[in-house]
Amino acid sequence: MQHTPDSFDVVVVGSGGGALAGAYLAAKAGLSTAVLERTARVGGTSAYSGGACWLPGSEVQQRAGLADSTDSARTYLGSLLDAPDSGRVEAFLAESPRLVKAFEADPALEFEWIPFPEYFDAPGRVGLGRSIQPVDIRRDELPAEVAELVRPPVERDRAGRPGRSKLSGGQALIARLLTAFVRAGGTVLTGHNVVGFHQERGRVAGVDAVVDGGSVRIAAERGILVAAGGFEGDAQLRDEHGVPGDARWTMAPAGTNRGEPIFAAARLGAATDLLDQGWFCPGLAQPDGGGSFALGFRGGIMVDATGRRYANECLPYDRFGRAMAAAAERIPSWFVFDSREGGGLPAIAMPEGDPEEHVRAGIRFRADTIAELAADIGVPAQALTGTVERFNEFAAAGADADFHRGEDEYDAFFAGGEPLVAIDQPPYYAAKFVLSDLGTKGGLVTDSRGRVLRGDGSAIGGLYAAGNSSASMTGAVYPAPGVPLGTAMVFASLAVADMAES
Ligand code: FAD
Repeated sequence: MQHTPDSFDVVVVGSGGGALAGAYLAAKAGLSTAVLERTARVGGTSAYSGGACWLPGSEVQQRAGLADSTDSARTYLGSLLDAPDSGRVEAFLAESPRLVKAFEADPALEFEWIPFPEYFDAPGRVGLGRSIQPVDIRRDELPAEVAELVRPPVERDRAGRPGRSKLSGGQALIARLLTAFVRAGGTVLTGHNVVGFHQERGRVAGVDAVVDGGSVRIAAERGILVAAGGFEGDAQLRDEHGVPGDARWTMAPAGTNRGEPIFAAARLGAATDLLDQGWFCPGLAQPDGGGSFALGFRGGIMVDATGRRYANECLPYDRFGRAMAAAAERIPSWFVFDSREGGGLPAIAMPEGDPEEHVRAGIRFRADTIAELAADIGVPAQALTGTVERFNEFAAAGADADFHRGEDEYDAFFAGGEPLVAIDQPPYYAAKFVLSDLGTKGGLVTDSRGRVLRGDGSAIGGLYAAGNSSASMTGAVYPAPGVPLGTAMVFASLAVADMAES
């Protein structure tokens, strides 16, 4: 049996995009590096993701001929973020192109532009977006141990659908980073649940992990990068910190992110912030009580318990989720649509599940009239009928006087250019929606080098954080596709650079 060393230069807690980016760069810099992952699979929510990375100003955007630049990204963030930490924002902007260049110097890491509009009509926005994604990769191009370790895509992990021979999006990101890490000599230790840290001579010098019910201590000579997601999977912590939604409705893979490393660091004196925040989205209710990330609505309307619309259904998902969270009668909501798509949901849900099973579970209804549908879902019939009639008038007029659906490029992008479509082809359907999230985004307070800070602003030696384990650089705003992964990878990179210098 191979003996696992109990000391590394760098220990990375978690194995999402930020974790693996940092781990790869550390290993490439010649530092002995271990990735500690609590589950049997590598990738976390990052593996479920679309893999879009908001890394502005890089050569990938230049190759695509986009109007992107570090300056326009600065303008965009500047117009959206409320009281940002300018040190972190500037560090992010400067590091993004360098990181992409460093990635692309490795044959395992190849990126391309992905058209995906940014989430706000604000100065500095780039038409059709500036996010980049890893190029798809075939399973047989991967080292065998990598293919084995990467978490399956969400539709397979959650709904048992067949796997893919080609890895795309977040799976491609994780597979590519893991390949590069393993080739650079890195060590992956699955089944290691990090629950605490130990200190020596005033700095954090290692982690305590639960492995097979026992406890192991692993030392880190240069530093520990906490990139273990948020605490979205822990109902009690969500409750304590007032995170809207529910641990059952989150998109984090089962058994992953429960926040132990965040709160263990807090017990050492680390400051935390934004603990009531998440990356939100509408979630299609599932028979097992879960919620599936939904976006790209191209028909239908969302109504609350009073039978009324409350927002533009085509809003970027975090913005819609925040509208949902703003009033109790919006959770659950009901998505009302017609038979234009053969009864299929005119939206993307990951995974959608089996519509007939949803009908049997009482979370989807079908009726010949809107009034009957209203009775099924328990909302006032007159109100729902009036709401549908009013929306159909908007569709006929080509303008949504209530919520301006269709006026932004994002709305039209997913709706195939037709964001206002009447609901007039029976039978009619209603699908139950809850407030889901892609993860919490509050956590450890960090500086422009990814160092974890105490309340007095001093750095805790040896301890770094990135991704959803850290308080997000973008506060309560989700500016554009790929910001979660982009910021996670950039601050992981900066953290490792700081460790390498130490
Ligand atoms: P994760 O990727 O969840 O990784 C955390 C890992 O740490 C997990 O594997 C977990 O098991 C492990 N871990 C947790 N606790 C411990 C512990 N105590 N010890 C050891 N290991 C531990 N974002 C984008 O930027 N672009 C997109 O295109 C995009 N699309 C998305 C699509 C979907 C369907 C979903 C669900 C999300 C999407 N997101 C996207 C959001 C993004 O995936 C997450 O916000 C991001 O991946 C979080 O990264 P992370 O590293 O913080 O956490």
